Amino acid sequence: MTVKNGTPYDSNNIFARILRGEIPSKPVFENEHAFAFHDINPQAPVHVLVIPKGAYVSLADFSVNAPDALQAGFWRAVGEVARQLGLEEDGYRILANAGTNSHQEVPHLHVHIFGGKPLGPMLLRDA
Ligand code: AMP
Repeated sequence: MTVKNGTPYDSNNIFARILRGEIPSKPVFENEHAFAFHDINPQAPVHVLVIPKGAYVSLADFSVNAPDALQAGFWRAVGEVARQLGLEEDGYRILANAGTNSHQEVPHLHVHIFGGKPLGPMLLRDA
């Protein structure tokens, strides 16, 4: 199901449950602000998700409502994860879906990190 713009936070969404340790994940990084784990359905040789430790649906929500320390800590963590994954030399892509047009599926802010091969054009073009 696609997350609609303005949807309220659902504390039982799958990433909230991963943060609480209720369902398993394959972690790659954790600190006080962020948690990173492998995507269950990878779309590149490296496909990792970074999520903030807090109840935020999307970047639209996080950028307005999260405290400054969490916002800074989260974005630092995204960069740190990419470094730790060894992606800096060959390059990588980050992506965050938000709301209806993006087809966001999980209603907890997450940044995708893709790498490990040339990633092609940024977006599919309309036929
Ligand atoms: P999005 O469309 O941006 O909301 O992306 C959601 C992502 O979460 C997809 O790439 C899914 O493959 C991934 N995903 C869903 N459930 C899990 C899970 N249990 N563990 C890891 N990744 C997941």
